[in-house]
Amino acid sequence: MNRLPIFLDLSGRKAAVVGGGTAAARRLETLLAAGAEVVVLAEGLHDEFAPFAGRFAHVADADSYRFEGCRLCFFAQANGEADPSLLARARAAGAMINVADRPENCDFIMPSIVDRSPLVVAISTGGASPVLGRMLKARLETMIPSAYGRLAAVMGAARAPLQQKLQSSSSRLRFWERVLDGPIAEMVLAGDETRAAEALAKEIEQAAEDGTSGSGSATGEVYLVGAGPGDPDLLTFRAFRLMQKADVVLYDRLVDASILEKVRRDAERIYVGKRRNDHALPQEEIGELLVKLARQGKRVLRLKGGDPFIFGRGGEEIEKLAENGIPFQVCPGVTAASGCSAYSGIPLTHRDYAQSCVFVTGHGKDGPIELDWETLLRPRQTVAIYMGLAHLAALTAQFIARGADPDLPAAIIENGTRASQKTVTGCIADIAAKASAANLRGPTIIIVGHVVALRDKLNWFAPQDANPLPATAAELIEARDYVQQ
Ligand code: SAH
Repeated sequence: MNRLPIFLDLSGRKAAVVGGGTAAARRLETLLAAGAEVVVLAEGLHDEFAPFAGRFAHVADADSYRFEGCRLCFFAQANGEADPSLLARARAAGAMINVADRPENCDFIMPSIVDRSPLVVAISTGGASPVLGRMLKARLETMIPSAYGRLAAVMGAARAPLQQKLQSSSSRLRFWERVLDGPIAEMVLAGDETRAAEALAKEIEQAAEDGTSGSGSATGEVYLVGAGPGDPDLLTFRAFRLMQKADVVLYDRLVDASILEKVRRDAERIYVGKRRNDHALPQEEIGELLVKLARQGKRVLRLKGGDPFIFGRGGEEIEKLAENGIPFQVCPGVTAASGCSAYSGIPLTHRDYAQSCVFVTGHGKDGPIELDWETLLRPRQTVAIYMGLAHLAALTAQFIARGADPDLPAAIIENGTRASQKTVTGCIADIAAKASAANLRGPTIIIVGHVVALRDKLNWFAPQDANPLPATAAELIEARDYVQQ
């Protein structure tokens, strides 16, 4: 974060705009919307100032103006340059400076704003790409219903009364979540604020009588959530929503830091392992901890890499919850095989090359696993091997010993979907040697089957690949058509 986003109270405060053109008029408009007392320093004013006539002071002779008491000063002069002497005087008087299109001269920069007052969203790219900021603003404008401003206002008016009635901040938090999820919010969005305010007042009375959030239950719940293989863009909306609700999060090694960042900021974080042969907390204890935390009334997020039920031991964790009567919900995630294959340009199935795909683990409870070789060696099939790196040489040797063609294509993908993704391709005869030469260390998935060879042919754009393969427009279209088949 190269700038600190804050929201400044300008009501009744002095602010200045230097310049009389269109850009200056926009600054004036924003400052007036924030309630500032604005003075515009410019010889002449563009017609765009006309709608604001009477709401600001105009000083034609900027040299005579004294900046004392001015909180902010916007320089938006026609030539893009700020008058150095005015700039020096404004700064000396203690005003924070913004010079249009000159981030290097700015004490602060202006975000793109989505205004649903009192709800305000400000977006900044730190000056790197204002266009990107504006594009995002356009999206948010369509996503955030205009009635959200009214909703925030209705809730704002009820904050103080609720605070008096409900002492505990977590009870209040839950109260508001329930209100936002329920019929009162719907009333506001439908335009009936009066009825909503009345209903809200009743709810507050009720909650005060119950002494709780009004939900009648102090038991927490558990969200078992698949976080996908690494790229935060692969989180589901539901995962994201539950990540915002959690009071405490239990995570392990497979959960990328960039995903953890998206969990509610004040949620407690508990690391529970695990690397191969290094279980920070035995599985048994993870289950017990989930139960214990939920019993304390917390909303517990169990965040797991990939999908919770694909080699994720999610089943064991919910068994424990069910035994103890703890409410829980499960949110699926993109599993490593699917994320890594897509991000490395390998289709898991293909009409001509693979009609089935099996996911297997190369690591059992106590070392390498005994696999069902008859199933694995079936023709026209893709095999995705999880946790197979440590035994890769033994695994591929078994493939060949049991009759697989040594030239059968194979790929190994490390840190799939992350910025550090590495893909090594070869065949089952040489992939183990290539993997060890590449010195892979992160989580890796192995894909065996003829589909691996399609990587060069299809050449689709794999966003995170360290060396994206060059792709012509025609090839991309071909790949897309193929995907749609
Ligand atoms: N539940 C997870 C799998 C957990 S087992 C899922 O659905 O993906 C852990 C194994 O998953 C790792 O040893 C590795 O084989 C695979 N894996 C998980 N994330 C990966 C990633 N980003 N890149 C490559 N392999 C990954």
